[in-house]
Amino acid sequence: MARMTAIKPPDTAPGTTEFSGTGTILNPATGAIAGQVQWTDPADVPAIAAGLRAAQRDWEQRGAKGRAKVLARFAVWLADHRGEIEELLIKETGKSAVDAAQEVPLLIMILSYYVRTMEKALEPERRPAALPFLAIKKITVYYRPRPVVGIIAPWNYPVANALMDGLGALAAGCAVLLKPSERTPLTAEVLRRGWLESGAPEVLALAQGAREVATAVIDNVDYVQFTGSSATGRKVMERAARRLTPVSLELGGKDPMIVLDDANLDLAIEGGLWGAFGTTGQRCTATSRIIVQKGVYHEFIERFVARAKKLKVGNGLDETVDMGPAVNENQLKTDLEYIEIGKNEGAKLVCGGNRLDKGEYQHGWFLEPTVFTDVDPKMRIAQEEIFGPVVSIIPCDDMETAIEIANNIEYGLSSALYTKDVNKAFTAVRDLEAGITYINAPTIGAEVHLPFGGTKATGNGHREGGIGAIDFYTEWKAVYVDYSDKLQKAQIDRVD
Ligand code: NAD
Repeated sequence: MARMTAIKPPDTAPGTTEFSGTGTILNPATGAIAGQVQWTDPADVPAIAAGLRAAQRDWEQRGAKGRAKVLARFAVWLADHRGEIEELLIKETGKSAVDAAQEVPLLIMILSYYVRTMEKALEPERRPAALPFLAIKKITVYYRPRPVVGIIAPWNYPVANALMDGLGALAAGCAVLLKPSERTPLTAEVLRRGWLESGAPEVLALAQGAREVATAVIDNVDYVQFTGSSATGRKVMERAARRLTPVSLELGGKDPMIVLDDANLDLAIEGGLWGAFGTTGQRCTATSRIIVQKGVYHEFIERFVARAKKLKVGNGLDETVDMGPAVNENQLKTDLEYIEIGKNEGAKLVCGGNRLDKGEYQHGWFLEPTVFTDVDPKMRIAQEEIFGPVVSIIPCDDMETAIEIANNIEYGLSSALYTKDVNKAFTAVRDLEAGITYINAPTIGAEVHLPFGGTKATGNGHREGGIGAIDFYTEWKAVYVDYSDKLQKAQIDRVD
């Protein structure tokens, strides 16, 4: 497949043109001020990282049990302040109340998971000696935290993406330097306040800003967890390579949902709607391609479009709203450009396609839920990540063709198949090139204790892998102790 250049909004935050001094963040639904942020001077990042490095030693020495107590208190703080966080989240991103309601509980679930499992997961492991001459040695593998972990986050889940990786690192005994997206820096400030109000030490710090601050973070940490677009991910990896800093990349997606002739259409339609238009289509796991077998193609489109037309678009602070605005003007512009591209490519626009800017919508960046049908899989709207509420419906003859269409793309994050045939389901699980496959469920939503991540241009990591995540944030240290000497043996036994 030929590589294409995706349209990408420039690195500017809403209402700001530079990242020094104080920045003002606007509510994308109303244009009102959502809050203000103090941008970090990139020159200050080395000192921030050095402070974290010093505080991390004590954090590590508390041991898993000591840290678990702090994490548990932070979970309680989050539950107590959920209303405040969600209100700010809606103002900062414009997302609907239903979408915003996912983020804080996700962090609480991750915290509960680590509190229950981290002590065992971080225990040193005794290993048998493989060679007879080593049998006189006691061999142990220790997990040592990577001292300072840098998290560079995107804007679409400012609460969840800010910390769902950071919590694994904190549990492992690392300090965390978080660089939130410059478009959504406000909720991260509340999370850091909550961390300190929970009685936690200064092992979580923020660096607020855009590319320059992110680069300074990469240059001063021991591990980089990056979540964002594939284009930026490549730059992050290149920069980190200068110091040979390991990197985990969670990047873009163009996720397919396949609907076969025998599918439960009620389920598939609801799954497709939630997958395509939830969070205004602004998520890596959004259902952006629906591949439908010919036997149900027309019925699926008729019913899907009828439901899409009924979705209520508006300000997320109104709890009856299904879909909020684009995060800012640049993202709306990108969405509208792709809609023009789709029309010019010959796809059939059967729903939406227009900006909403009258009456209640006049101060925001609203777009109608948009559906294209008769999409050729090679079209740009079917290949490039749009990151908005624009979905392409593609006809196919059979499951083999559907899987070929699903795979013939540079991304490989999430995927879904709707069928009642268990054999087909297992074939899809084997053949779909994706980090995640859902059967009879939409492409979105993740369990906190399962690996989450993608293949191909979607990245190189499975970061929220539950216990697996701890592997990311620790290094193994192999320790050999020779106990052939009796005195030494006595000392070793005492340490046990
Ligand atoms: P982005 O790549 O524009 O920015 C992400 C972060 O990188 C921001 O904090 C930004 O300030 C920073 N950044 C910008 N230039 C940089 C540079 N040269 N070096 C280092 N950091 C730099 O992405 P975005 O627009 O914020 O988010 C949308 C993208 O994120 C989409 O592609 C989406 O699919 C992806 N995403 C992926 C996942 C996942 O888990 N795979 C989750 C959420 C979002």
